[in-house]
Amino acid sequence: ADIKKDSDPMHIIHVTAEMAPIAKVGGLGDVVTGLARACLARGHTVDIMLPFYECIPKQQIKDLALVTTYNSYHDGNWVPTNAYHGVVSGIPVIFIEPSNQFFKGQYVYGGSYNELEAYLSFSRACLEWMQVTGTQPDIIHVHEWQTGALPLLYWDMYHYLSLKWTSKHEKSVLLRTELLIAGASKEQLSKSGLDGSIYATIEKAVDDRTIGHNPERLSLLKGGIVYSNAAVTVSPTYLKETLCTGWLASTLIRNRDKYFGILNGIDTAMWNPATDIFLPVKFNAQKPEGKKLCKYHVQRGLGLAPEGILDGNHVPDMTHKVPLVVCITRLVPQKGLHLISHAIKRIEELGGQMVILGKASDGRVEREFEELAKLHNQGPSIRVLLMFSEELSHMLYAAADMVLVPSLYEPCGLAQMIGMCYGAVPVVRKTGGLADTVFDMDDQSNHETANGFVFEGIDEGSLSQALDRALAHYRQKPDEWNGIVRKVMEVDNSWNNTAGKYIEVYNSVRVRL
Ligand code: ADP
Repeated sequence: ADIKKDSDPMHIIHVTAEMAPIAKVGGLGDVVTGLARACLARGHTVDIMLPFYECIPKQQIKDLALVTTYNSYHDGNWVPTNAYHGVVSGIPVIFIEPSNQFFKGQYVYGGSYNELEAYLSFSRACLEWMQVTGTQPDIIHVHEWQTGALPLLYWDMYHYLSLKWTSKHEKSVLLRTELLIAGASKEQLSKSGLDGSIYATIEKAVDDRTIGHNPERLSLLKGGIVYSNAAVTVSPTYLKETLCTGWLASTLIRNRDKYFGILNGIDTAMWNPATDIFLPVKFNAQKPEGKKLCKYHVQRGLGLAPEGILDGNHVPDMTHKVPLVVCITRLVPQKGLHLISHAIKRIEELGGQMVILGKASDGRVEREFEELAKLHNQGPSIRVLLMFSEELSHMLYAAADMVLVPSLYEPCGLAQMIGMCYGAVPVVRKTGGLADTVFDMDDQSNHETANGFVFEGIDEGSLSQALDRALAHYRQKPDEWNGIVRKVMEVDNSWNNTAGKYIEVYNSVRVRL
């Protein structure tokens, strides 16, 4: 599709701990790549600055070359540092490689170095690189706690040093966050070259969760929010929720006029049923037949009772009407574990089918779901698959009649948006970004937007009611159901649609200076 160019192009630098696909652990990696790609398409200059993790697969970087060798300060030393340039998935990236133990190891996180100090030093190394190379971005966009110290370093240090920068106008710093947390000590912050004690006040970076607001304990994320020109969280509803509850509420209220809620998008280069390389048959809203075949393949492949027989045209006959519900998620408490296991029971009672694709990080949760797998995986209707599989996730979204997301809280949520894009009708709990993207079919006030089934309570009964309604709808009103499937596939949850909201925020902070 042709994307309209913005009239006043900017130079935006993202400073981040993750980037999909080369250094992706979770949603952060997807967001950075998707947003950067959308802004490039709108005519902006975009660079991503990423630690040069030892585990990054170098063969996935195009035109990798050393561009700068310089020194960056950390903990009393000037650390020789290399900056490389390369192109990943069409996006220019600067890789920062300090000559110490930071970012060495098999994985993005969990190496045998102090992570907090490593990201603190990375934040400074990025600013130092901009200074030594005379790079003059209009916007520095930092992400999450890892780069939360960068706004402090910029405004209290590089802003003054940058008198040497011959910039026409000031740079702005913007922080994007799901408000996940990490604490720092005053001493740790001081290793960046800032005087940690200056930030040990309630207005600045003291971690509000500590008893008596202990001035020894700081939060990089809170400091980042206070010191950035704008802070963005990942949905309008999550913005409201975080102003009401949680340890950062008072900080966010104090900074309300620069706090925004913008939904994440999905990267349609990766998620598109019309082009998806993992699907045996492609489909789209205008030609949805392929979806039935995807369902048939998944049912066959997983040994679930298939709902029809292939007729002469190889399109499964749909007379049996067994709805297939999928739930693809990290198995952590946030995602509503008791509701996920309750869904198995209820869907079985209702004569539907369910596939859970999930990975647990906690041993107790893993054992609990292993028990469920043992109980159900030989039967005709339920599969509990305890693994991470990108390929299988694409197949399941394509096969599903419904995608279940029963989270207790959900800053934005991608699963419901991806599901919709693949014609799976969402069944979700009304919280955070789920409340901003899914609107109940049976709520008369939603006639235009209605696209799924929503419940509010965190109890099993609330979920049962939503599942009952969804499955009844599917069985009793097949024509109307096909209409919803088409409608959810036509919803534009892509970055092309939401990147414009970031551009507006970028512009508003530029004007303010
Ligand atoms: P979170 O970022 O909290 O994990 P999101 O809904 O924002 O939740 O994003 C989750 C992403 O991870 C989705 O793309 C989902 O498909 C994917 N995912 C989660 N668990 C698995 C799994 N076990 N296998 C494959 N993909 C998974």
